[in-house]
Amino acid sequence: MPKKLRFGPAGKPVDFKGDMLKVPEYLASIGLDALEYEAVRGVRISESKARKLGEEARRYDIILSLHAPYYINLASKDEAKLKASIKRVIDSLKAAHWMGAYVVVVHIGYYKDHESRRSALKHAINALKIVEEQARQLSINDVWIGPETTGKKTQIGSIEEIIEICNSIERCRPVVDWAHLHARALGMHIVKIDDVIKVIDELEKNLDPQALKPLHQHFSRIEYGSGGEKEHHTLSEEEFGPDFRIVCRGLKETGIEGVIISESPILDKDALVMKAICCEEENYC
Ligand SMILES: [Zn+2]
Repeated sequence: MPKKLRFGPAGKPVDFKGDMLKVPEYLASIGLDALEYEAVRGVRISESKARKLGEEARRYDIILSLHAPYYINLASKDEAKLKASIKRVIDSLKAAHWMGAYVVVVHIGYYKDHESRRSALKHAINALKIVEEQARQLSINDVWIGPETTGKKTQIGSIEEIIEICNSIERCRPVVDWAHLHARALGMHIVKIDDVIKVIDELEKNLDPQALKPLHQHFSRIEYGSGGEKEHHTLSEEEFGPDFRIVCRGLKETGIEGVIISESPILDKDALVMKAICCEEENYC
């Protein structure tokens, strides 16, 4: 049976002290098969190192993704900030292309410069069209752009907005952060299996099946305040939602393939907990 789900950490495993290039081997040795390379503070990896990381990942059957810098606002009305944001996405796409990462995860931006959410979204989509054009000129056509569902109410990133973005540009796949959806709805969403199924149904109804095969996902428990996301928590901190069992049951119910990246403070350790929940308890992986 082909794999339904893959699991891995967002960045270097917590107890791993060695070189990044040894991470794929380490992940395979503990039973994980995905890795999100974190360029969240800037894309600094050299081409040769990125290519070597890609070779190691393929050798150990680790699927790679890359998280673009946090400091991106594709809805900015400030010309310099917008240009810098576009460049950060392009730099991320280049690094992903070198390492063979299949998707670049992007936090699209903020509503704040706009009188309406709609106008912010349109602005960001236009910026992504520029990104798309530049990527084409660089002959980068093997990496998907992955707008992520966000956890704060000030950020573009509801599931509807992600769908609209993905229907407006080519090679776009949604990135579903279940914790963010939970925080964005102040704990009212992703509380039952049906919530998870509805999100997946919505994506399947509106997007190209290739963009969901596999569905790229993030998970952790999360703390939120009135504005949404505050802090990510481990799976054992049960006072915070959402419950990973619910997500796993929803995935199983829909039969969707997935790559699940752990954004818990104990990255790989919780990736293993998630894997155990899906594989052993739910018999889906
Ligand atoms: Zn993210």
